[in-house]
Amino acid sequence: MEPATVTVSQAAQLHAQLVKTAPHSDSYLANATLRAYSKSSRPGRALKLFLHLQCHPFAPIPDHFTFSTLLSAAARLGSFAAGRQLHALLLKSALHSSSSHHSLNSLIFFYSSCRLLLPALQVFDEMPQRDVVSWTSAIAAAVDADSSGYALDLFESMMADGIPPNDATTVVALRACADLGALATGRRIHRFARVLGFSSNPNVSTALIDMYAKCGRLKCAEEIFDRMPEKDVFAWTAMIFGFSNHGKSREALDLFQRMVEMGVRPDDRTITAVLCACRSKGWVAEGYRVYNNMHKFGMRPRIQHYGCMVDLLARAGHLDEAEGFIKKIPIETDAVLWRTMIWASKLHGDEERAERLMEERLLLEIGSLDIGSYVLMGNVFGSVGKWREKAKVREMMVRRRVGKLPGCSRIEVNGMIHEFEAGDSGHPDGRMIYEKWGEVVEKLRMEGYSPTVSEVILDMEDEEKASQLNHHSEKLALAFGLIKKSPGEDILIVKNLRSCQDCHSAMKLISRVYNREITIRDRIKFHHFSNGICSCGDYW
Ligand code: ZN
Ligand code: ZN
Repeated sequence: MEPATVTVSQAAQLHAQLVKTAPHSDSYLANATLRAYSKSSRPGRALKLFLHLQCHPFAPIPDHFTFSTLLSAAARLGSFAAGRQLHALLLKSALHSSSSHHSLNSLIFFYSSCRLLLPALQVFDEMPQRDVVSWTSAIAAAVDADSSGYALDLFESMMADGIPPNDATTVVALRACADLGALATGRRIHRFARVLGFSSNPNVSTALIDMYAKCGRLKCAEEIFDRMPEKDVFAWTAMIFGFSNHGKSREALDLFQRMVEMGVRPDDRTITAVLCACRSKGWVAEGYRVYNNMHKFGMRPRIQHYGCMVDLLARAGHLDEAEGFIKKIPIETDAVLWRTMIWASKLHGDEERAERLMEERLLLEIGSLDIGSYVLMGNVFGSVGKWREKAKVREMMVRRRVGKLPGCSRIEVNGMIHEFEAGDSGHPDGRMIYEKWGEVVEKLRMEGYSPTVSEVILDMEDEEKASQLNHHSEKLALAFGLIKKSPGEDILIVKNLRSCQDCHSAMKLISRVYNREITIRDRIKFHHFSNGICSCGDYW
């Protein structure tokens, strides 16, 4: 039976009562109590009560509601161990073979919240029956595990099975499209949503805004946004992010202003979006104004906001101020902030500061650093001529088995996503692509282009080595785009890292020489190359 709704304080009373009288209590009452806890700010209590009851010889037998409730409590707690145990218990119980997929759906959701795709898919594959919720949970699990390509495959299989998507499925499928830059598929899903009558559902509209913006179609995103009769904070935020990522910082800030005037309260992500807009133009004063006004919306800065401010200050060259800012942050900071600082010091030619900060900050945490920090350290040592130290960093990377993150670019051609890695030769059209790139380089050379290996390479992953410069993933994707797309069509490439200086200047030139609109979405923002210039104004 569906449990009734009780409040947390009622739950606490019931809890005490249940512990005393478990032998006489029914699962209906127990479920109501568990659910109240699970949805409260203390989901751990639901698991505790369950354990408590399990010790009673006559405890109520858990049913599907019990499992669903406990699994969502485990998901909210982020407790993998608890979820695992519930899974084992569920397998042992008689419920497993019954036709209700309630608890199995919750199980998929639980694994998905732990970003564990494989166990989620295993549960999904073994389900005797799958409903739209099962499919949606599996698709969401794939998106959350950075496997958006697979998520879209699942979406197609679901359609092929004759199960129509609902609004929630549409939202996750659109997230996958946004992630991949899969514009053609995103448009097709938009059409389904229209036919099925939920394209004006606010969550779907917001997902559409995000998808179009991330696929380089800011105008389409704006149209959907403007048509929404009631805009919630998520819609406003998606649109502000859209402007901000496309380098339209003025529009992003104006929209934020409008949102506040309309009485919509911003949330953490809104502030992040606005600060990103300031960062990408180096607007320090504007950034401070937003940051200092957060309390007016009842918000306290969180680590992501501090990160934006440090990035804004450091990138704009206010290095002393940025360093002082980090030191005053009242919560625990991570290596990322210092990495930003070190990178910016290097960008502004303050090698001394870069080296000092590295020794004071990064070297202390050497055991827990990510690849980006190692590569950055190697570069800082290299730029001050400390080759021995640089070699040590390399050696540490090898010893700690920190692999390099391969640069990867995607491009959609005729509704299919093609993926390229740096120096990739695995593509069926590989030869043609390399020949095309050779031809492009020849043409560019005649326009005065020569490959530049800049000292200040932004993310400085290993991909960005001179030897491979010519075959960076976005260049391969671009060559493929030039082959496959007719002259009028613009080219959208989605890259997992930041572009290096050389790719950036090559793209500018190509947009003029080949008269193409080229858009690259890198890890941070959009670059629209048109007639020899980039929308970022070379500030990135
Ligand atoms: Zn490059
Ligand atoms: Zn650019």
